[in-house]
Amino acid sequence: MELTLAHLYPQHMNLYGDRGNVLALQYRAVHRGWGFHVVDVDLGDAVDWKTVDLIFMGGGEDTHQARIYEDFLRRGPELQALLDEGVPMLAVCGAYQLLGHHYRTADGAVLQGLGYLDITTEAGPSRAIGDVVCETTLPVTPMTLVGFENHGGRTFLGPEGTPLGTVRVGKGNNGTDGSEGAVKNHTLGTYLHGSLLPKNPQVTDLLLQWAANRQTGGPTPLPPLDSTREMAAHDVIVKRSKIRHV
Ligand code: GLN
Repeated sequence: MELTLAHLYPQHMNLYGDRGNVLALQYRAVHRGWGFHVVDVDLGDAVDWKTVDLIFMGGGEDTHQARIYEDFLRRGPELQALLDEGVPMLAVCGAYQLLGHHYRTADGAVLQGLGYLDITTEAGPSRAIGDVVCETTLPVTPMTLVGFENHGGRTFLGPEGTPLGTVRVGKGNNGTDGSEGAVKNHTLGTYLHGSLLPKNPQVTDLLLQWAANRQTGGPTPLPPLDSTREMAAHDVIVKRSKIRHV
């Protein structure tokens, strides 16, 4: 198995160790004997989307989101075609916001998004900062996801929006309706930095599984891999939040 990941805007969209998500995917692919290639995609870079099996984009400050969002919009048609085909994408925080309809910043600027996810984000009166523990509806064990959030935006799901999970600790999408993130097809949008995947190996493996299945055209065995250290990190956050494992 040889997988290629497109890392969108690594220079501009990379907060709180978001690059760790790429490293976690690479680690868990390589330790299964798979090849794993990372292609950095920056402003204006040409991309051979046919070769892409996985996509990652991290979070960013408002100024960085403002710098990349038009370039991101231009890539919309090609990117959405891939997402519709089932190419897995993980979009964290600022990237998650830009997969929705728009993000209105605290300054009142409206950054238009792709509209792939039925979500809308408006800056709130304060920042949501701290550990997050949520329960996801993704087909993973454990269902508990842990991470760290730091965002000013409040995100609300539209009628077509499906949350990634339910918040147990933290604010998640908006701090009011208990939802966290959004999922559509194999696209996961989330506020969880941390980074997310090193502490949630079950999600890393789900993304790899989806990518492998798509490449081979059917269910593909995912060789077992030890997750002791990853789950120890996961459990630290769960314990710190005084939440019992689901
Ligand atoms: N700038 C956005 C916000 O504050 C996203 C922040 C982030 O990616 N952590 O809501």
